[in-house]
Parts: sequence; C-alpha cells; structure tokens
Amino acid sequence: MYIEIDEIKNAPEQTLSLEFDDVIKEIDENNPIQAKITLKLLGNIITATGKIQGQIKSTCVRCLKEFNRKIDIKLNEKYMLGTLYNGMDGEIELKENNFLEELGDKNEIDIEDLIYQSVILNSPNQIVCDINCLGDEMLEKYVKKEISDPRLKVFENIKLEKDN
Ligand SMILES: [Zn+2]
Repeated sequence: MYIEIDEIKNAPEQTLSLEFDDVIKEIDENNPIQAKITLKLLGNIITATGKIQGQIKSTCVRCLKEFNRKIDIKLNEKYMLGTLYNGMDGEIELKENNFLEELGDKNEIDIEDLIYQSVILNSPNQIVCDINCLGDEMLEKYVKKEISDPRLKVFENIKLEKDN
C-alpha cells in the first residue's frame, strides 16, 4: 500500500486517515496486521500516528517455543520532504523507538514499510512467551526440584507430628 504525498497535500487540513488490514510477509506470513494510521503534513514534515495491532508469530528466547505474540503499538513516526540539508533549520528531537525518514525525491509513503519498521523498533530484544517462562524442559525440571525440597520437609514434619 502506497500513499502519494500529493494525496496528503490535497486532503482536507492536509490530513489523511487510512486503515490497513493485511499480511506483511516480513513480519508474519499468516497472521494479518491491523493498523489505523493518520498522515498529517506540517510544513515539510509528515507525521504518521495511530495504532498497529495484531498477533505475530515469535520464538521465545528461553524455551525456544513458537507462540503468537500480541502487539499493540502506538505509532508515532515522521517523514521529511526532501532531505535534511535543504529545508530544516533546526534540530529534530527524536524519542527512542521512533524514526525520521527523509523522503528525498520519493513522492509516496510505503505503508507496509512504515508498519514493518515500527513493529521491529518496538519489539523487545529478548522475546519471551511468558515473563515466568522457565526455559526448556531440562531447566524446568531443575528449577522444580529446587522448589520442591522445602515443601517435602514440611510434609515430613506433619507426618512426624501425626505419628507422635
Ligand atoms: Zn518460553
């Protein structure tokens, strides 16, 4: 999906809203991504705000199992018409996980690429299926054994009291 810069320029208040609901192969081959995006032209900057939602197949770094990870991203990105050298006279503050893309001589915005970049930028470095995931079975057994020892002692004590 491509949006031409002229479409935004010619839209009322130079603001264009769109909805996206499609598979982006680079993110997940099967599960579609839903996005509601508003593109607004302010001077020579186009802001892209909105929401990106979906379930994307991910691999847990601890147990290596595949699972569907829910994503719910607040989109807030910026494009610049032309390049940084002809037009900007100030610095642009960028928050973490945001990007500013120079459009150069491009006359359109690639919506799939916008969504892709936002999903990648907002993905944690270490993806886990559950914050309590203990890892693979070997590790799981080890941890369970460690936990079960004090419990067994409690049962032993109860038994001893009964016998007395
Ligand atoms: Zn896991």
